[in-house]
Amino acid sequence: MEKIFNYINGNFVSAISEEWIDNYEPATGQVYSQLPRSKAEDIQMAYEAARNAFVYWSQLSTEDRSNYLLKIADKIEKRLEEFAQAESKDTGKPIQLAKTVDIPRAISNFRFFATAILHAHDEAYDMGKIGFNYVKRKPLGVAGLIAPWNLPLYLLTWKIAPALAVGNTAIAKPSEVTPYTAFLLAKVCDEVGLPKGVLNIVHGYGAEVGEAIVTHPKIPVISFTGGTTTGKRIAQNAGLLLKKVSLELGGKNPCIIFDDADLQRCIEISVRGAFNNQGQICLCSSRFFVQKKLYETFKNSFIQKVKTFQPNDPMLPNTSMGAIVSEMQFQKVLFYIEEAKKLGGKVLCGGEPVEPINERCKNGWFIEPTVIENLDPYCSVNQEEIFGPVITLTPFETEKEVLEYANSVSYGLSAVLWTQNLKRAHVLADQLEAGIVWVNNWMVRDLRTPFGGVKESGVGREGGIEALHFYTEPKNIFIGLL
Ligand code: NDP
Repeated sequence: MEKIFNYINGNFVSAISEEWIDNYEPATGQVYSQLPRSKAEDIQMAYEAARNAFVYWSQLSTEDRSNYLLKIADKIEKRLEEFAQAESKDTGKPIQLAKTVDIPRAISNFRFFATAILHAHDEAYDMGKIGFNYVKRKPLGVAGLIAPWNLPLYLLTWKIAPALAVGNTAIAKPSEVTPYTAFLLAKVCDEVGLPKGVLNIVHGYGAEVGEAIVTHPKIPVISFTGGTTTGKRIAQNAGLLLKKVSLELGGKNPCIIFDDADLQRCIEISVRGAFNNQGQICLCSSRFFVQKKLYETFKNSFIQKVKTFQPNDPMLPNTSMGAIVSEMQFQKVLFYIEEAKKLGGKVLCGGEPVEPINERCKNGWFIEPTVIENLDPYCSVNQEEIFGPVITLTPFETEKEVLEYANSVSYGLSAVLWTQNLKRAHVLADQLEAGIVWVNNWMVRDLRTPFGGVKESGVGREGGIEALHFYTEPKNIFIGLL
């Protein structure tokens, strides 16, 4: 059985306990590798390596740090095919998606922050004859970085790149469900000669190794992406130790379609917005609100398009929809479909597990893209995060009504608006409770923009200058001239 190892102080090691966790391929439901079941003692070892490395790394010139990160990006790019295959196998996502989105984005994360630091500048405040202040931004030390399973390398590197760029060292923990590409990243770091201990990758269960990172008394900063329940626990644990924390959490994102929408484009993009990565993107729209006059037309065209988006073996080049990441998640999605039926929901398409024609996938975790109507906007299926290929359709009449529906959930990550009416777009974009609003598009990302949610979707922002600021602390120095 293939083994995935921790990467600590530049060495590939098993957990001190020598215990292992099985790693599954979602498309087949079979175990194909094992990862270390690390615990607090492994984190202590990683911490010591990272603390020692911090002395050297934080003093390195900006250009030198930038060069290391650019080398990592180049190496991943050279091995894009291998990374994409691994990500697809580990997560169940279509190979095409891994090749065109996940891995290219991981490369961009390194390039973006490697070059961003070359253009950063510090602030100064002139006080005339008295003197002046200048502000130095100092790295914090050892950063604890915890990522989820849906976009494994994409989200892990979104944290690693800025943390290292500004001079921190790090301990990163990928989800135990999808550890493989983090292991490949460790190999790349080794190949480019990243100094030992600058990046440590430690695998294991969140409740054990994740918790050990968050409660480690000497790790001053935690960046976490994952579910809201876990986020609350992390906030509690980190709060007691007064750590700096960034939390990117769950969502229940609305997509609002007015009857003046460009229907063809809206349908094309909305199907991806609902079902890309099997609906397992925190930014996927899960509640569709369609203005009454357009409702039936939208519904019919949308369903027709959804039916072309059918699950198949993720390793096939033309597959647009793959497997659900784990059996637990598979059961959770099916539970919500049953719940919707009990609540009077009408399943317009999907609603069942499917077996792709391909024999090797007969025990995999596949669910048809599912569209449900006739549910109360305030019922559990419309309020709780499902994080799978299930969306609901609800008609509305007025802007006021739809705004109330959209903002009724405890989450506030993203929202999509389809309208040609400029004034309405601006007014609603302003009033929607979300960290990101897309008008007439979905998931267009610019790495310079602030990224994050409001309400139970998170605390803090990643991206661009926000990330560079998060991973540093400003120090004000006054120079007296009198
Ligand atoms: P989880 O919250 O279950 O896990 C996220 C990470 O935290 C995993 O690495 C997990 O480890 C770890 N973890 C679990 N418990 C603890 C703990 N007590 N202390 C420290 N770390 C812990 O989320 P999922 O992996 O299930 O990811 C799906 C969720 O992520 C969804 O809610 C989704 O909306 C959200 N998400 C949010 C995004 C955003 O930007 N706002 C982007 C992408 C996803 P392990 O897996 O090994 O248990």
